Amino acid sequence: MLEKITDPRDVRRWDGGMPVAHRYTPGVAGEVFFTALRDRGVFVGSRCDACAYTYVPARSFCERCFAELAADVEVGPGGVLRSFTIGFVDGDGRPLAEPDTVGLVQLDGADAVFLHRIVATDDDPVEIGARVEAVLRPDRERTGSIADVVGFRVRTDVTG
Ligand SMILES: [Zn+2]
Repeated sequence: MLEKITDPRDVRRWDGGMPVAHRYTPGVAGEVFFTALRDRGVFVGSRCDACAYTYVPARSFCERCFAELAADVEVGPGGVLRSFTIGFVDGDGRPLAEPDTVGLVQLDGADAVFLHRIVATDDDPVEIGARVEAVLRPDRERTGSIADVVGFRVRTDVTG
């Protein structure tokens, strides 16, 4: 006979892991974005003139009107912090040694926001509307991945 469970915390369970491997390709526009980031240290986006909207990273089509787009515009490396959050625990709920801040950055020349780590300094407070600038790995260390961007550093020494 089956026992009726009324509290989901009372279910019998056993812990374990499931090894899953996968590959994700960046696509045609994403390839241009990551190659430009690796080789030239720049952010490449796509402009839809019909929608007057610039995406970053580059896209092969407009998400608003479905027009075909090209990876045809460089944006950043400066921008404005539009939102952020501070994490104090990792994905498994364990406390982090240092809080981790991630934010949405609107790079100069782009309409879309770019999600990445915010590099805080003692002198420059992280706040919405702050000017930020990309911090990239050194030329020879870049591999063509999102990890080529260390994060965005808050800049209070510039206005915008
Ligand atoms: Zn469009």
